[in-house]
Amino acid sequence: MDEIEKVSIIGAGTMGSGIAHVFAVNGYEVNLIDTSDALLERALSSITDNLGRQVRKEIISRNAVENALKSINLSTEMDIAADSQLLIEAVFENSEVKKKVFGELERISDREAILATNTSSISITDIASATNRKDKVIGMHFFNPVPVMELVEIIKGESTGEETYQAVRKVVKSLGKTPVEVNDSPGFISNRVLMPMINEAVFALMEGVSSADDIDTVMKLGMNHPMGPLRLADFIGLDVCLNIMEILQNGLNSDKYAPCPLLKEKVESGELGRKTGSGFYKYN
Ligand code: NAD
Repeated sequence: MDEIEKVSIIGAGTMGSGIAHVFAVNGYEVNLIDTSDALLERALSSITDNLGRQVRKEIISRNAVENALKSINLSTEMDIAADSQLLIEAVFENSEVKKKVFGELERISDREAILATNTSSISITDIASATNRKDKVIGMHFFNPVPVMELVEIIKGESTGEETYQAVRKVVKSLGKTPVEVNDSPGFISNRVLMPMINEAVFALMEGVSSADDIDTVMKLGMNHPMGPLRLADFIGLDVCLNIMEILQNGLNSDKYAPCPLLKEKVESGELGRKTGSGFYKYN
């Protein structure tokens, strides 16, 4: 397998732009692909702001910013990814949309190229079924905000090749991040452990065990979590939390993961957390 030097990222939203940022800062040539120029311009402006923040915090130099920005190519054409050795999909969290993108990636890329997905909850084996190179398909689960968060879950689907895994592990380390190896299973490790904790906090609130603030304070000061579970749920989005609980409940076939009725109620009433101005807390 060739050394990975060129990387293409498909989807320039929150995660795609963060992923492009870290690859560009670490010397890779990056293509960032989305469906419109307006979305790409918005992504570039957010990358530029975040690079500026890293300069102010003295994490990187001005020179590094210039080089990073020079190495990012924006495009609305998937074909630009043809000579990339690593292609990372970060489009909407929808299995059909992702499978369509993977079919397209297989068509345009080299047989040896690695096709990775940043999905947070969809089965890697299922996404790989959209291609004829299941050995090259793998999960690379980055965390938000990507330039700050050190962890990457590397998820092996049923047919992911060992060579693919080792190459991705090396790339993750080259970004200064810490890889963990996970076998394909609903919620991987991060959401399998995090979401039931959030769900339990919502149960405690619903049952009047304590207030939202006090539940969060227990987990912050008692367990040293940087953010309480209810505020974290607001930050992630209550619709996303509900969706992942349902994936755990169905995928692991256990009512141990049944979403709390209060979580469902919030989502039904459109209180999705910070993005809608209200969830377990109010936001201006
Ligand atoms: P987002 O909505 O911010 O961005 C998705 C982008 O994909 C949009 O800009 C959209 O225009 C683009 N897109 C959609 N279809 C496309 C296509 N066919 N070709 C090219 N571009 C296309 O979403 P996000 O929060 O960045 O999430 C992306 C992925 O990362 C999802 O699978 C999500 O589950 C996962 N993820 C998200 C987070 C998070 O905290 N936001 C964390 C880890 C993983």
